[in-house]
Amino acid sequence: MRPILEIKPLLENAPGKITITMHQKPDADAMGASLALYHYLLQKGHTVQVISPTNFPDFLKWMPGCDRVINFEADQAFALEALKDTRILFCLDFNTFRRTHQLAPHLEQLNCVKALIDHHQEPDPAFDYGISNTAAAATAQLIYEFIVAMGDSALINGDIARCIYAGTMTDTGSFRFASTSAAVHRMVADLMDRGLEHEPIHHSIYDNYLENRFRFIGYVLQNRFEVFYDYNTAMIAIPHKDIKRFDLKTGDTEGLVNYPLAIQGIRLAALIIGWENDVKLSFRSKGDFDVNRFARRYFQGGGHKNAAGGHSQDSLADTVERFKQAIRENKDLLK
Ligand code: 5GP
Ligand code: MN
Repeated sequence: MRPILEIKPLLENAPGKITITMHQKPDADAMGASLALYHYLLQKGHTVQVISPTNFPDFLKWMPGCDRVINFEADQAFALEALKDTRILFCLDFNTFRRTHQLAPHLEQLNCVKALIDHHQEPDPAFDYGISNTAAAATAQLIYEFIVAMGDSALINGDIARCIYAGTMTDTGSFRFASTSAAVHRMVADLMDRGLEHEPIHHSIYDNYLENRFRFIGYVLQNRFEVFYDYNTAMIAIPHKDIKRFDLKTGDTEGLVNYPLAIQGIRLAALIIGWENDVKLSFRSKGDFDVNRFARRYFQGGGHKNAAGGHSQDSLADTVERFKQAIRENKDLLK
């Protein structure tokens, strides 16, 4: 993989068709980074299309340009048509094509220049250009740095600033995680100097619940919450019937995994959800316990040291049993 900046000649000369894609069920960072890059490349004169492998949460529907994002799951033919004569494919906020779900085989077989901009560990070797910086707080931060390194900071307009801020704000837990470097604060200061208003972004993402989501949180904290003090671990395991009962939508379980982590002494938090076809696991940790390794080893997943996820094809009950076995095996590391 050549350094991302070496792609510069391809972006400066001859405008062409560019596609941007991200991981399935995109979060604010995946969408924010993709749309920031979208608004930038449009200004560079390219024809740009953003494709999401799936739908995205309603609380991101304020993001400028999100109404032009193709949902591959809902509109396959349209997405494949858009991919057809793409000259450059940008892959944002994921490390392996697998994370784009059903879109993966279509991306893999594309015969075009492929570029990666991401902050997860162990990227696929399939990219021509890219940056995989696990020290970055968010992919949105990497987009900001890319635009600046391209010599185009004058093109960072209000739309780009809001998208970058949203992605960075969410991936840093509102600027609290260890990844929140001085460079992140300098970037935010620069965005504010350019006129960014940050408060409405916090409101649209964090103060935008429907009543059912609140009642759902109350219900699961009461009924689906378990603490394993011997292992400094707390878990929320949610059967599919709860998802149906509270009529939850994409994104409604976002942030739930942080509740168990807020308990005194807890070092590992797990959120295990029985979705329609598989079981999804989310892990968070405080301190040294490496959930990226944990998710890779036990649940076909990955992520970062303190935030990772995985999947299981077993039933929810069997997955929970496997999780309990896994924390027993990690007792020493969880002390
Ligand atoms: P979340 O728990 O919010 O879904 O994900 C936390 C972090 O782990 C994110 O950086 C996400 O990209 C990563 N992650 C979540 N699920 C998976 C997975 O199944 N595989 C891999 N490789 N990473 C995941
Ligand atoms: Mn991210």
